[in-house]
Amino acid sequence: MKTDQSHILFAKAQQLIPGGVNSPVRACKSVGCEPLFVKRAAGSKIYDVDGNEFLDFVCSWGPMILGHNHPSVVEAIEKTLRNGTSFGAPCSLEIELAELVIKALPSVEKVRFVSSGTEATMSAIRVARGYTGRKVVVKFDGCYHGHADSFLVKAGSGVITLGIPGSPGVPEDIVKNTVSIPYNNPEILEKTLRDKKLDIACVIVEPVAGNMGVVAPEPGFLQKMRSLTAELGIVLIFDEVITGLRLAQGGAQEYFGVMPDLTCLGKIIGGGLPVGAYGGKRELMDMVSPVGPVYQAGTLSGNPLAMAAGIATMQQLAQPGFYAALEEKSARFARGLVMLAEKYLPGQTTLNRVGSMMTAFFAVGPVVDFDSAMKADTERYGRHFREMLAQGIWLAPSQFEAAFISSAQSEAELAMALEKTECSFKKLAK
Ligand SMILES: *Cc1c(COP(=O)(O)O)cnc(C)c1O
Repeated sequence: MKTDQSHILFAKAQQLIPGGVNSPVRACKSVGCEPLFVKRAAGSKIYDVDGNEFLDFVCSWGPMILGHNHPSVVEAIEKTLRNGTSFGAPCSLEIELAELVIKALPSVEKVRFVSSGTEATMSAIRVARGYTGRKVVVKFDGCYHGHADSFLVKAGSGVITLGIPGSPGVPEDIVKNTVSIPYNNPEILEKTLRDKKLDIACVIVEPVAGNMGVVAPEPGFLQKMRSLTAELGIVLIFDEVITGLRLAQGGAQEYFGVMPDLTCLGKIIGGGLPVGAYGGKRELMDMVSPVGPVYQAGTLSGNPLAMAAGIATMQQLAQPGFYAALEEKSARFARGLVMLAEKYLPGQTTLNRVGSMMTAFFAVGPVVDFDSAMKADTERYGRHFREMLAQGIWLAPSQFEAAFISSAQSEAELAMALEKTECSFKKLAK
């Protein structure tokens, strides 16, 4: 595979941008190669500056559930573009997207748009703290909620992949108000939440973890979280930045039938443009300024182009049978992966899948939390990644990320991806 042009660009980028990238995992450090620079993307494919073509399983880390440049999303953006790109004043597209979100997400009565998932989670905990008058945020080891100070404690992929324990620049005074506990451990959850010495404002969770690789909640775990937080007056926040609109229109809350108090959205909701959102019960959302005293603002929030892309995307997702088709395709692909793994690497891999998000861990035994995820063989993943890339398959450059299936991938393309996987597994088995 030719990579000359990417190599030249990466050398130049490193002079100008820290590590040559604007988000760390993209640097491909943990998989032992240099990043490829993308020229364009269309449908299921992504094309680099050296003319290589790849079948894309990263989907821009989740947003591109319809594939790249979906015609109706492009059309909506183009149409909106002609009327200006930012107003700093309300526009009707905000109402349209808000209506769609509130209709889709069963627990959301009011919603505020922001420009990233990080802003959504950061604002949601501010609301929870403002509402309860308490300080402590409980999160789970290996869950990632963006890069705000309060969350950079055992924070999943980017941080794990680079082997950073937390982050310098985050004051002790701030993280002392964050308690991180193991995922899928109901006993520790109950003990922590009932601890009277802790002044707990909220519990925030990825209802399906996607940032330590995909880890599903064990049956009853989310239900227990819901009943305990309700009993103790603690705000329950689902960070559905990945799962919202990925597992169902109504996200994980619809999928598992557990309703949080606040929901954070991002990624898919912007259809590939920068949008985040947080929403929930009216009494909580009415804490937000200008109605209430909790301050949160954004110059480009509710941006018309981003709203238009979100609306067009959500309209596609609302078509009957969309998620059933995606599930069927994902299930078939996952069955293929499991068969190949059993044939070539028996007992050496674990496939975790919920809907169209999945991770094949190079790990022995089940992966149910951060500690079991950390047992994965990242060196082996790196070899697999490089082999797949050389064969035209674009996987996430980290063991601790999800692979996403999009509606743009055809059955034939997925079958081809399985053939390439077979070649890679054969080599790894040697
Ligand atoms: C990606 C992600 C975020 C952060 O969103 P950004 O748009 O990158 O700021 C937060 N929570 C989860 C679960 C995510 O996957």
